[in-house]
Amino acid sequence: TFEPLASDFFSYESLLTDREKEALAALRGWLERDVKPIVNDHWDRGEFPMQIVKPLAELGALSYAWDETKPFKNSAVFRGFVALELARVDASVATFAGVQNGLATGSIAIAGSTEQRAEWIPRLASGEVIGAFGLTEPLSGSDSARGLRTTARREGDEWVLNGAKRWIGNATFSDITIIWAKDEADGQVKGFIVPTSTPGYTATKIERKISLRAVQNADITLEHVVVPESLRLQNANSFRDTAAVLRQTRAEVAWSAVGTSIGAYEAAVAYAKRREQFGKPIGAHQLIQDLLVKCLGNITASLGMVVRVSEMLDRGEQRDEHSALTKAYTTARMRETVAWAREAVGGNGIVLDYDVARFFADAEALYSYEGTREMNTLIVGRAITGEAAFV
Ligand code: FAD
Repeated sequence: TFEPLASDFFSYESLLTDREKEALAALRGWLERDVKPIVNDHWDRGEFPMQIVKPLAELGALSYAWDETKPFKNSAVFRGFVALELARVDASVATFAGVQNGLATGSIAIAGSTEQRAEWIPRLASGEVIGAFGLTEPLSGSDSARGLRTTARREGDEWVLNGAKRWIGNATFSDITIIWAKDEADGQVKGFIVPTSTPGYTATKIERKISLRAVQNADITLEHVVVPESLRLQNANSFRDTAAVLRQTRAEVAWSAVGTSIGAYEAAVAYAKRREQFGKPIGAHQLIQDLLVKCLGNITASLGMVVRVSEMLDRGEQRDEHSALTKAYTTARMRETVAWAREAVGGNGIVLDYDVARFFADAEALYSYEGTREMNTLIVGRAITGEAAFV
């Protein structure tokens, strides 16, 4: 049964339908029981808990968005709460799902043909196929709209891809990776569904990360990788189509940022109630209450923003600058929140076992991926002044 979260102070969850609440309660129960107890160890070892992929898919967490697989009619607000729920337990798990569902499946859903959608979306939603999304390169991060060096050359019914990608989430174990490359003929960015078993494709795990250690990122090299025309995303004709995928996933990252903030805040509240100093629980001291209330203020304001941006998506009103502002604002609030929560836990706040340390470290990656605060700020700046200030 569904129980409202105390950290959803203004009861935004009451916007959900009974069916949505039921699905969320099932997901929450499984996360608390089977995932929460194992995440610190996986973070420590730098390993993803592959055993969670199947239950994650069975609970619908990889399929709520797509017409091909959607178990029931649902809203973008509900899907946001799903991302929040995952991140509230672990930001790496939320990131895995965000890549699989939002970036990889999302690319095929938004830029694939009807046949490509029918072939791939059900297999990605069931977890049978693991997907990754390769846009960023060693020499091109924020400027990927113009700076991609990976090339695609058409040869008859095939395409030849050459280049390198960096930071690609899930790519150490993905079955397919969506590779974005510049067509040598027309200079436009196109997308390709690349099976990772294709000769010339290699992925190497990025080691020694200090954030999101449980989910992996890879450096990819593409040396004369040949894919048939049937694996080119048929409706990806320029970077605009790539940007359409990112517009939706950015809003979802904002939801994950709220979930990460809530995870840290809840760990701090629990600790403040049990840890005693000066003869009483630290939560009875005014300055600790101040830290907790500042966290709750950030969470509550950010929740209002993500709920609204998802409602706008449902109505077809969401523009790039809406999701950009939401991502930039909520990740900045998350960074403050996890730091205040960590502060409230004192020395134990830097030890994994008290949870808050993991949220604190993981927040850094969410702050920078899917567009840094600076890049999202420039998207909003362009919308309000009419002047593009990227270059
Ligand atoms: P850079 O672009 O080199 O930026 C460095 C700094 O300069 C930043 O602060 C940036 O904001 C600033 N800057 C750059 N240009 C400007 C400007 N014009 N004005 C002001 N400031 C500017 N990518 C994928 O394709 N797929 C993935 O699955 C994926 N997963 C990721 C997971 C993690 C954990 C991380 C860390 C990254 C991931 N990325 C992924 C890449 C991510 O999207 C990039 O890191 C991000 O876009 C920033 O690019 P960069 O790291 O190259 O930084």
